[in-house]
Amino acid sequence: MKNPYLLNTHDLPRRAGEMKEYELDIEAPERVGVPLIGVAQGDIIEVDARLESVTEGVLLSAEIYAVARGECIRCLDPVEMEVERTIQELYRYEPTHDKSKRKHRDDDDIDLEAEDELQMDGDVLNLEIPIIDAIILALPINPLCDDECLGLCPDCGEKWETLPDDHTHDVVDPRWSGLKSLLDGPSDFGNQSK
Ligand SMILES: [Zn+2]
Ligand SMILES: [Zn+2]
Repeated sequence: MKNPYLLNTHDLPRRAGEMKEYELDIEAPERVGVPLIGVAQGDIIEVDARLESVTEGVLLSAEIYAVARGECIRCLDPVEMEVERTIQELYRYEPTHDKSKRKHRDDDDIDLEAEDELQMDGDVLNLEIPIIDAIILALPINPLCDDECLGLCPDCGEKWETLPDDHTHDVVDPRWSGLKSLLDGPSDFGNQSK
């Protein structure tokens, strides 16, 4: 299957200053998000991209829009949030790092700068990493349906919001239940009271 994050720029002239705009609806080939909230697989990530030819490559400016879905960590209600991000990335024609630097990458010694650098593959820009990073950075690690969400009663699992203010449970303390059986059994009671 074709990678939907690839953008072919063959119609953008390779002269510095040339510009083209693209509107992409990317159907997420897999979920994009953090464990508790994300853009579901198959949902659309809208990308309004503007490409500009510059000397070293192609400069991408893009607005990303998607809807992420998850669950409130306190009450487990569904949470939906709109993600809007603006990104700007330079895709280089040629890597700036020469072979001496590339060798480094073979020694498990990950060169962050080299890893971060985006490069064109012929006419093609791969938008996957910048888009996924931008969406993930916009998402809360602990999503809430509302900042004020009161969560659930730990005993019955009902929402505090729907419960009366004086809601409580007669929780039977195990120590008391032992005593209760003593009180219920007259013979035991007699023995204990000696
Ligand atoms: Zn909630
Ligand atoms: Zn309760």
